[in-house]
Amino acid sequence: MREAPITLYPAGSAGRPRPGWLARVGQAMQAHRRTILALQWFVVVAYLTLLVIPAFMPLPPEDAHLYDNLRLFAQFIFWGIWWPFVMLSMMLLGRIWCGVFCPEGSLTELASRHGLGRPIPRWIRWSGWPFVAFVCTTVYGQLVSVYEYPQAALLVLGGSSVAAVAVGLVYGRGSRVWCRYLCPANGVFSLLAKIAPVHFRVEEQAWKASPERRPMVNCAPLIDIRHMKSASACHACGRCSGYRDAVQLAARSPAQEILATRNRDVRTEEAFTLLFGVLGIATAAFLWSSSRWLVQMKSLLANWLVEHDILWPLNDDAPWWLLTHYPAANDLFTWLDGFCILAYILGGGVAVGLIVLACIRLAARMAAAPDLSWQRLSLALIPLAGMGIFLGLSMLTLGHLKAERVSLEWVAPVRVVLLVLGSSFSAWLGARLLRPTALRRLAAFALYLLPIALIDTIWVLNFF
Ligand code: SF4
Repeated sequence: MREAPITLYPAGSAGRPRPGWLARVGQAMQAHRRTILALQWFVVVAYLTLLVIPAFMPLPPEDAHLYDNLRLFAQFIFWGIWWPFVMLSMMLLGRIWCGVFCPEGSLTELASRHGLGRPIPRWIRWSGWPFVAFVCTTVYGQLVSVYEYPQAALLVLGGSSVAAVAVGLVYGRGSRVWCRYLCPANGVFSLLAKIAPVHFRVEEQAWKASPERRPMVNCAPLIDIRHMKSASACHACGRCSGYRDAVQLAARSPAQEILATRNRDVRTEEAFTLLFGVLGIATAAFLWSSSRWLVQMKSLLANWLVEHDILWPLNDDAPWWLLTHYPAANDLFTWLDGFCILAYILGGGVAVGLIVLACIRLAARMAAAPDLSWQRLSLALIPLAGMGIFLGLSMLTLGHLKAERVSLEWVAPVRVVLLVLGSSFSAWLGARLLRPTALRRLAAFALYLLPIALIDTIWVLNFF
């Protein structure tokens, strides 16, 4: 759908300040929809090329490099560049990836423009989807080694894209029902965007006062723009920039949204996605392959199975779409491997999540502030969670660079700096929310710091 250009501070708005450069960037996004569309279709073509072709290529030879082998190149682009830096971009720029670049978003929106246009059913609106979809995709991706094999990437990413198109074909009209409710990354993206220092700001007073009566902008992720307070759901597509002289791209403090959030704005499902999904299960998913505990658990169980003459769990005959199965690469998971990985990720993730939850709940209760629920306090951990997920995903980037013999001496100090940044920002946010002036509040703050220390310890033990 073509939308008429919207002017920021149109004729008659004398006395309004000249828009800053960020607002002008937002205006440019609004005015140059064709350029953004061209960019989106370029990303769609690149995405499909890198997703499909490598899945039908043989294993790369020993001396292959990521610059001369499409399979390795695609692996590096998807897992070494795309995912870690998309996560980082959420914290720095909000969800601009979703609104401007994401191939799934573009495909589902296009499908929805030509589809059945049915109303969105209640089951799709269920607020638990972001958590469930994130956990299921994370765990399944590890079982099929999504980072290593293009067949698995085609199954996981391609499956998600097909589902996005299917949802677009059935529900909504020119909207992104998939992105708003079902995308597996939606929960994490919407959490990380809360600390982005730029957002599309809506001024309700200006909205009300504006004489403009244009038709409403088509906001693909179905946001009630007039009342938008959070960057969580906004895809930063720029379509509404300048609308009614009330919306503009603007800078803000990265702490602003979390400090301004009210108890009733934070759903328990959102807090669960953060505590159990990102801090728990995602962290465990990054660490299982280097865990000594997992090796010990596996050998204990294997011995027990052999002693009891139960041998089928030691077979490696599972299909590749269920458990990693690549004989040519000598990479075959047994049923026991699958069980141990599942137990490590889910067990470890839930254990970390429970510890963090207990500390946060107790801290919020000790603070005894009616305006501070544990759900709201948990949001203060977003910077640490964001850094954790970036550091975890960047391990794949570094693995590729190491294979290319790139010097990685700079990595350790950079990791320390990022961890310190994330931890201290989370600690500062916690202090602002808990206001530890009296003894009771100080104790609550000390309790709040425990999960930060726990997550830092996990990463430090892994890295050093
Ligand atoms: S509110 Fe909607 S239309 Fe406006 S920038 Fe965000 S996603 Fe785009």
